Order: sequence, then structure tokens, then C-alpha cells
Amino acid sequence: MFRVINKRTLIQRLFMYFLPLSLIGVLIGAPFLLLFLGTASLLFWHYKQLYKLSDWLHNQKSFNPPEGEGSWEQIFDGIYRLQHRNRDKRNELAGLIRRFREGAEAVPDAVIVLQKDLSIVWCNKLAVQVLGLKWPSDSGQRLDNLIRHPDFAKYMNNNDFHEPLELDSPLGTEQILEFRVMPYETQLMVVVRDVTQLKMLEQIRKDFVANVSHELRTPLTVISGYLEMMDADAMPPLGIWGKAHGTMSEQCERMNGLVNQLLILSRIEGPRKTEQDELVDIPNMLKLILVQTETLNADKKHVIELEVDANLSILGKTEELRSAFSNLIFNAIHYIPEPGHIRIVWQMKNGEAHFAVHDNGEGIGPEHIGRLTERFYRVDQARSRKTGGSGLGLAITKHVLSRHESHLNIDSVVGEGSCFSFSFSNERVKNLK
Ligand code: ADP
Repeated sequence: MFRVINKRTLIQRLFMYFLPLSLIGVLIGAPFLLLFLGTASLLFWHYKQLYKLSDWLHNQKSFNPPEGEGSWEQIFDGIYRLQHRNRDKRNELAGLIRRFREGAEAVPDAVIVLQKDLSIVWCNKLAVQVLGLKWPSDSGQRLDNLIRHPDFAKYMNNNDFHEPLELDSPLGTEQILEFRVMPYETQLMVVVRDVTQLKMLEQIRKDFVANVSHELRTPLTVISGYLEMMDADAMPPLGIWGKAHGTMSEQCERMNGLVNQLLILSRIEGPRKTEQDELVDIPNMLKLILVQTETLNADKKHVIELEVDANLSILGKTEELRSAFSNLIFNAIHYIPEPGHIRIVWQMKNGEAHFAVHDNGEGIGPEHIGRLTERFYRVDQARSRKTGGSGLGLAITKHVLSRHESHLNIDSVVGEGSCFSFSFSNERVKNLK
């Protein structure tokens, strides 16, 4: 068992050392001389042990400390034990790091661990291949010095890693890379994924929808042109003709609307340049939309209440904003039971321009709310088809809003009604007063 030197033992030892010395000193008549010699040799012996320890600490390569003597034996023994305990801990830690690295090497993505100042702590082999990093020579280098792209530097310095960043490969290959950053403790983990295939598929899908919609336009124009020319009255008086002509014209018009909405959607997918912004007189736009709703609302007899700030306009794209505002108003008119109550608000709220359409309809179940902005998603297919809805309206609204740095909020309580709203930041606001 490891012995601890305690005060009592020390005093006992000193006593056992100096007592015989003093006795002999008294016997030979020179007690002070003997005490002095005893103290000096004790000091000399301690210095020798200290020297041994210091020599081992600074000059010796051996892992185990030298053999100690007397009370020093316990100190050397303690150091020996400490050394062994540290070595075990070190081995354990090295094992942990090795296992982490093996795990990170097995990940099918490039992984880089960074300090908060963006200097590289570690990267896996894929990071070397995908980003052209050199390991270990790039260790300690700042990642934004090695990936020289203004968007990357901006993204890393913004410190907001909720959304991933997409960049072309810094190696000049045709790859598109997605960077995800996960901060933990005092470090950051960057995971880089090759999303070229995904982007290609997305582009193919976009092109397909845009091309099909475009190609459908010509046959549709021809059909509706002929339908207009074929006046039902001028045709043989077959009972079915009148009905068929009406249905064909109606469906043609519906398909036209659908194709146009699909074309709008493919046009507005993706970000827009803010230089294209213009001053949009929203109060006037709302007035025009309400004029359009008059015929539709004449049958439904909904009460429409307005709370509009007549001076509040914003910067944006007129056509896009018109569809976002009108989709919400038309939806309220279409989907609430008649006669209902609709309240339209366009006012400043919490420093932002806020638009809201409140209705007292049947409301929408929470299971549908998250999906309403998906293309072709309709809560009640049959009812929506009856209203002529395509299920694209809210998808368009969502894209338009994201191109104006805004997003759609939907609050709804089944049996009480819904509120569709969005806000624009103060930078877009133009007060005309
Ligand atoms: P649609 O062209 O079919 O109207 P939207 O994308 O505009 O498509 O709307 C999607 C669905 O959301 C609609 O089919 C309808 O079921 C539901 N919806 C939209 N607005 C309301 C509302 N104010 N009240 C109840 N349901 C609504």
C-alpha cells in the first residue's frame, strides 16, 4: 500500500536522528559541533535526492523515476504511480480519438473539424479529395483561406448555420457541394456533401414542368380558338352539343389557368435580384383585387371588412405581389361557408408591414397546415375542384414571399376560422405620407 508521509513520522524520524547525535555530543563534550555536522550532512543528503529528481525530470528519458531513499522513496514512488496513471489516461484518450477518427472516415461525406477562428483541427480523407485540402500540412490553416469564395467567407463569418450553403467545387470540377456547419463546444464540424445529382434531378424536374406547360399552351390556344369560333347556335340542333360546348370551354379555361400557374411557378422558383424591385402601391393593388372579387362575392354575400393603411407601400415586384395578396383573398372567399366574415388587414405591426386575411370559415386541421403550400395539395379535393382551384395558389404565394424575404403564416382553428398572414421587413417599407 502506498505510504503517505505524515507530520508525526517526520518528527519521529528527526527526533531519532538528532537524539543520538546530541547524546554522543554531550558525551564527547562537543554537542553543538556534532549537531552542526549532523544538520549539514542531512542537508547534503536531501540536496542529493533533489538533484536526482531534477536530473530525471529534465535530462533522463526513462519513463520510471530513479530509486529514492528514506522519505524520498515515497515521493519517487508517488511520481512513479502518477506517471503510470497518466499513461493509462493518455492511452484511453488516444483510443477515443482514434475511434472518433475511424468513425469520421467511415462517413460518406467530407468532414472537417475547425476551431472557432476557422483554423483546421482535423479533416478526413474525403475532405482531402473533395476540397483539395492537404493533410497534415493544412492543419492549423484557416479554412476560408483555402476555400477562396466570397459566399463561403460570408457564410462562415455570419455565424448563422441554420441553412446549408451550396457552392461550386473549389477544385473547378463540375460538382455542386453542400456545406453544413454544426457548432459544438468550442469547435465547429463542417460536413460537405456532393449534391450534384440531386441538383441535376431538381433542374430536370423544373425544366420538365416548364417545357410541358409551355408546349401545352399552343394546343390549348388552338382548341379554345375553335371553340370560340364554333358558336353553339350555329351548330346542328343536337341536344348534347350545347352542353358539350359549354363544358369544353369551361375545362379549356381551367386548363389554361393551370398551365399559366405552372409557368409562373417555374419562373419564380429560386431567388430574385433585389435590383429589380419597384415601388408597389399596395393599398391601390388591394382596391383593384377587391373590385375583381365583387362578382364572385355577389353570390356568396360574405361581409368583407378592411383595415388598410392607405399610405403603406413596399418595394418589390408588382406582378408577383399581386398574386400573393390576391391568392389569400380569393381563397377566403372560395373556402368559407356563405355568408361569412372576412377581415383584411394591411398595417404596420411590430416595425413590419403586415398583411393578414382573417376568416370565420370551417378552419383547417393541423395535419394539413404544414402541407398547404405543397404543389397540388388540397384539403378537400372535390370542393377545391368545384371552385376551380388547382392547388398551386399557396405554392406560388410561398415562393413569391421567399423572394421578398418573407414567409407565409397560417393559423387556423377547426370550427372557428383561419388567418393567413405575412410581413415585410422595415427595409422594404415605403410610407407614402
Ligand atoms: P387552390 O388553388 O386549390 O385554392 P391553394 O394552394 O390556394 O389551392 O390552397 C390549397 C388548399 O388550402 C385549398 O385547396 C383549400 O383546401 C385550403 N385553403 C386555402 N385557403 C383556405 C381558407 N381560407 N380556409 C379554408 N381552407 C383554405
